[in-house]
Amino acid sequence: MGYPDGAAAQRPEPDTASGPTLAWLARQWLRSVAGVAFIPGPRVRARECLEFLLHRLAQGLQTEPFDPAIGYLVGVDLVGARMSSPDVLGRTLTLLGERLLPALGVGRQPAAELRLQQLLGQLAVGFTTTLRDAAAGAAEEINRAERAVWRRQQLILQRRMQHALLHDPLTGLPNRSKLFDSVATLIADAGRDQRIGICLIRITRLATVNDTLGHEVGDHLLRQVARRLRPAANRQGHPLAHLDGDEFALVLPATTGPDDAVKAAEAALRVLVEPCVVDGHPIEVAAKAGIVEQPAADANAVELLRRAHIAAGWAIADRNRQYAVFDPQRSSVDIDRHRLAAILPTAIRSGQFYLDYQPLVRLSDRAVVGVEALARWRHPTLGKLGPDQFIGLAEQTGLIQPLGLHLLERACEQAARWQRRLWPPYVSVNLAPAQLQQPDLVAAVVAALDRSRLPPCRLQLEITESTAIDAHHDVLRRLAGLGVRLAIDDFGTGYSSLAYLTELPVRTVKLAARFLDGLREPGAAGPSSKILDHLITMCHDLGISVTAEGVESVAQARHLERLHCDTGQGYLFARPTTPRRLTRMLDGRLPGPGAAPR
Ligand code: C2E
Ligand code: CA
Repeated sequence: MGYPDGAAAQRPEPDTASGPTLAWLARQWLRSVAGVAFIPGPRVRARECLEFLLHRLAQGLQTEPFDPAIGYLVGVDLVGARMSSPDVLGRTLTLLGERLLPALGVGRQPAAELRLQQLLGQLAVGFTTTLRDAAAGAAEEINRAERAVWRRQQLILQRRMQHALLHDPLTGLPNRSKLFDSVATLIADAGRDQRIGICLIRITRLATVNDTLGHEVGDHLLRQVARRLRPAANRQGHPLAHLDGDEFALVLPATTGPDDAVKAAEAALRVLVEPCVVDGHPIEVAAKAGIVEQPAADANAVELLRRAHIAAGWAIADRNRQYAVFDPQRSSVDIDRHRLAAILPTAIRSGQFYLDYQPLVRLSDRAVVGVEALARWRHPTLGKLGPDQFIGLAEQTGLIQPLGLHLLERACEQAARWQRRLWPPYVSVNLAPAQLQQPDLVAAVVAALDRSRLPPCRLQLEITESTAIDAHHDVLRRLAGLGVRLAIDDFGTGYSSLAYLTELPVRTVKLAARFLDGLREPGAAGPSSKILDHLITMCHDLGISVTAEGVESVAQARHLERLHCDTGQGYLFARPTTPRRLTRMLDGRLPGPGAAPR
C-alpha cells in the first residue's frame, strides 16, 4: 500500500532526533489513518494520542531488556482510541515500518530493524485481538438486544394470537371460547347462593339477509347489532359475546332469579327493535332470545349455553314470543321428540304416515268443493300422532322433503279417486317452507299429477305467508303455470305486507282462525268484523277467493256468508276424517243454516 497523503510524504524529514520528529510523525500517522477511518473527537486529541503511542514504541525499541509486548499494548490502545478499521492497521504498519527508525535517528541497523519488526508484529496482534474481542462483545451485545426485541415481539404476537383466538374478528366481541372461559370462571368464583344466567340472542333475519342481499350486508347487520348491544351490556357489567353467525350471548353474572334474566333479555331485544340501516336501506333485525337462569352451584358453562340455545329455539318456533325461558320439563319432552325424529325415515318407508281429509265447504250452499289433506302418523306404540308432533321435527331434520312428497302423492291418488264423481272436489295439500327450497319441487308435483292422472286444477297447494314472501317467486309461478291452485294458509298471522298478493298468482287466501274469534256470538259486528269485511273485499278485488278457517259456530258461518266469504273449513262442518267418511259427505249436504241447493 502506498503512502496515503502524497503531499505530507514529500515533505522533507526533520533531522532532529526524537521530540519534534515524533510529533511530525504523529501528524503523518493521523493524516494517513484519517483517510481511511472516521476518527472520533477533536483532531488534536487524536494526534496527542498517536504521539504518545509513538513515544511508547520508541521507548520499547530502546529499553533493555527488549520487550515486544509494548507493541501489543500500542495495538490495544490504537483500537481503544477507536482507530480500529483494518485499513488503519495496514497504514500504521507501513508508515511506522518505513518512518519510525529514521524519525528516531536510529538508521536502518539490522538489530533495530528486527526489534521494530517484532514490535510492529505484536502491535498487529494486539490490534487484531482487541478488535476481535470488541467485535465479539459487540456481537454479543447485538444478540442480547435482538433477543430482547424478539422476546418483546413474541409477547406482542402471543397477545395478538390470544386475542384473535378468543375474539370474533367481525364484531371484535369475545367469541364462544372466551365466553366459556368467562362463565367457567364466574361459576368457579360464585358464592354458595349465587345464581347465574345466560341470554342467547339470535338474529333470525340474518339467513334471509345473507341469501337475498349478500353476506357483506349480513356482516354489516351483525356489526350494527354488536354496536347496539355492547353499551347496554357494558353498563350492566354483563359480558357480551358473539358466538357464531346469528348468535350473541349475554352473561348475567349475579341474577336474583329468572325475572332478572328476563329483564336483561327484554332490554337487549329493545335495542334491536329499530331496523338497522345498511347502505341507506332499513333492515329489520328480528331478534329472539333464549334465557337460562339458575343457581351457579349446579351450573356448568357448556350445559348453560346448551339450555339457552334450546330456549332460543322455542322462542323462534313461537311466532308470538320474543323470548323463552329454559324449562327442564319442556326440554325432556323435546328429547322424546328427538327419539321420534330418529325413527322418522323408517316410518315414512313403512307407510306409517297417512292423510285425513277435512271438507272445504262453499258457504252459500254448504257443498263440499274441496278437501284439505292433513297428515297423521300411525305410530306403532304411541298411536295416532298429529302433525304438530312431527311436521316441525321433519322440517328440522330435513325429512320434510321425502315426507312431503310421500303425502303429496297419496293426496293426489285419493283426489283422483274422487274425480269420477259429478262434483269432484279439489284436494288442498300443505307445503312446508323447506319444500319450496327443494330444487325438484315442480318436477315432483308434475310427476305426482301424472302418476295419479289428477287434473292440475284439482290440486291446491297451501303455503304460509312467510313462505310466500321469502320463497323464490319463480317456483310459485311455475307451479301456478301448471294449472295448480295456490293458497295462502293462515293468512293474517304476522306479516303486514300484502304486496305479494298482487305479485303472485294466488288463487285463494285462507283466513287464520283468529279472525273469527270475535264472531262467535250472533249479531257480532265489532272491529274483527270490519277487518274481515275489508280483507274479503280486498281479496275479491284482486280476484282471490277466501276460505275462512276454524269455523266452529253457526253464528260465524252466517256472518261469513253475509260478508260474501267463499268457503269455510271447521268443526262446524266436519272434523278431519278418513277418505271413506269424507266420500259420504261428498254425497250429502253439510250442516249449517241458509244452505242453498247445489
Ligand atoms: P292448518 O293448515 O291450519 O290446518 C288446519 C288445522 O286446524 C288442522 O289441524 C285441523 O284439524 C284444525 N282445524 C280444522 N277446523 C278446526 C276448527 O274448527 N277448530 C279448531 N280449533 N281447529 C280446526 P291439524 O290437522 O292438527 O293440522 C295442524 C297443522 O299441521 C296444519 O294447520 C298444517 O299447518 C300442518 N299440517 C297438517 N298436515 C300437513 C302436511 O301434510 N304437510 C305440512 N307441511 N303441514 C301439515
Ligand atoms: Ca292448511
